[in-house]
Amino acid sequence: MNEPLPPNQKAMVFETADANATITLGERLAKFLQPGAVVALYGDLGAGKTTIVKGFARGLGVRETVKSPSFVIITEYQGKLPVYHIDLYRIKSPAEFTEIGLDAYLTGTGVCLVEWAERAEELLPPHTIRIRLTVLNQTRRIEITGLNPGIAQELN
Ligand code: ADP
Ligand code: MG
Repeated sequence: MNEPLPPNQKAMVFETADANATITLGERLAKFLQPGAVVALYGDLGAGKTTIVKGFARGLGVRETVKSPSFVIITEYQGKLPVYHIDLYRIKSPAEFTEIGLDAYLTGTGVCLVEWAERAEELLPPHTIRIRLTVLNQTRRIEITGLNPGIAQELN
């Protein structure tokens, strides 16, 4: 469950004190997402994956509230770009990737935000931005690779 992030990529590391801080981080990071961006989210249940998706969606101009859907695997939102919130928690076999057309989403021009991305690791494109969320006592550690660490200064 805790696969290392890919080597040779400098990580940006943040620590957020509460859910709102994680939402704000996602919102600020959103401006660095290009059409076709894939954001892979890793971390245990309750780590904050859906929470940071809420921030990304807000930053991308989505007005609807992002929810953690019970049975839906892909939820589409319209912001400045199409935003696809993909949750692979209920995926049982790679055959289901074909069924849901995951590859088409991942290679499209919208932004894909993928929870439990490790289940589709082999389908993720080279430009995937990876975010690992780890529960600390009261806070969350958020490690990001695939984005230029230089943007950290531009996030405030
Ligand atoms: P996941 O999608 O990874 O299962 P969620 O985002 O649905 O996780 O839930 C995260 C839970 O942890 C929420 O109840 C949220 O309020 C809580 N929480 C506490 N601190 C933080 C934090 N720093 N960042 C994100 N969520 C936090
Ligand atoms: Mg979730």
